[in-house]
Amino acid sequence: MILPIVAYGDPVLRKVATDITKDYPKLDTLIPNMWETMYNAHGVGLAAPQVGLPIRLFMVDTSPFSDDEDLSKEEQEQLKGFKKVFINAKIEEESGTEWDFNEGCLSIPDIREDVKRKPEVTISYLDENFEPHKETYNGLLARVIQHEYDHIEGVLFTDKLSSLKKRLLKNRLDKISKGKISVDYKMRFPNIKKAR
Ligand SMILES: [Zn+2]
Repeated sequence: MILPIVAYGDPVLRKVATDITKDYPKLDTLIPNMWETMYNAHGVGLAAPQVGLPIRLFMVDTSPFSDDEDLSKEEQEQLKGFKKVFINAKIEEESGTEWDFNEGCLSIPDIREDVKRKPEVTISYLDENFEPHKETYNGLLARVIQHEYDHIEGVLFTDKLSSLKKRLLKNRLDKISKGKISVDYKMRFPNIKKAR
């Protein structure tokens, strides 16, 4: 089932999300529904707050990036097979020299901006079977994980822009929160009474 994606301006996107346990209600339908919602919107990642739930759950499937010809064969292969659910994730360490990448977000349609992040991330998390993992990722893979991880910390990529960029974007962000935007997937807008 495709869930509506919560738009910029909704308070749920600003909450520090909480850990869950195995008996979180309907987790076995929530996860497939989130995958369906993400693929329908052509996203490479989706976090639970984006479907209105302030819990520490997000998922990543970087396969759409794998035909990017600027990447090495090795990186393409790595991105192609990467599909994971992250539960109760915690970033242990980020390292390296910050690099720019043009990011977008399903909750902030039509806005893309360069965002600086460190290239390497070590993260501990539980998979969908609640098995623990601790892994280190680099490059684009790290980038997508960092973006989704920010969602469970109540942070959006637009927070990381310069104050000038933020001022320039303010009107467009206001419009998004009011639903004054055309988007080809189902969304829920905080500043209108009725969803589209
Ligand atoms: Zn996002």
